[in-house]
Amino acid sequence: MKDCIFCNIVAGEIPARKRYEDDEIVIFEDIEPKAKIHLLCVPKEHYAYLSEADEICAASLGRTLKKIAALAPSLGLGDGYRLVVNQGENAGQTVKHLHIHIMGGEVLPF
Ligand code: AMP
Ligand code: ZN
Repeated sequence: MKDCIFCNIVAGEIPARKRYEDDEIVIFEDIEPKAKIHLLCVPKEHYAYLSEADEICAASLGRTLKKIAALAPSLGLGDGYRLVVNQGENAGQTVKHLHIHIMGGEVLPF
């Protein structure tokens, strides 16, 4: 997707502080962190919304959750973290490329 900011980050066309990458996901630092550690986990394949997830995406998301759990200590999140997916307007989703917020590095205030 040419006009998608996260597709451009995946492709390396927009710079990002990447913390992890494999064949199906990229994890990079959120540009406006809302926690001491705030990362975004993005599937390389473009899905605008969680509600568009097909069986292939669902299987990939399952693997992704397992990977996040395994990577957490090396990302500085060994003491715990919160995962958030914003879906659609009411949740304030601003980037229309499915992503998982990973927040931690401190006791979260809410
Ligand atoms: P959401 O509200 O769930 O769509 O969240 C989108 C997130 O992407 C926000 O937390 C933004 O700060 C973050 N973001 C937007 N552009 C960039 C970028 N170029 N690099 C890193 N994070 C970004
Ligand atoms: Zn995209």
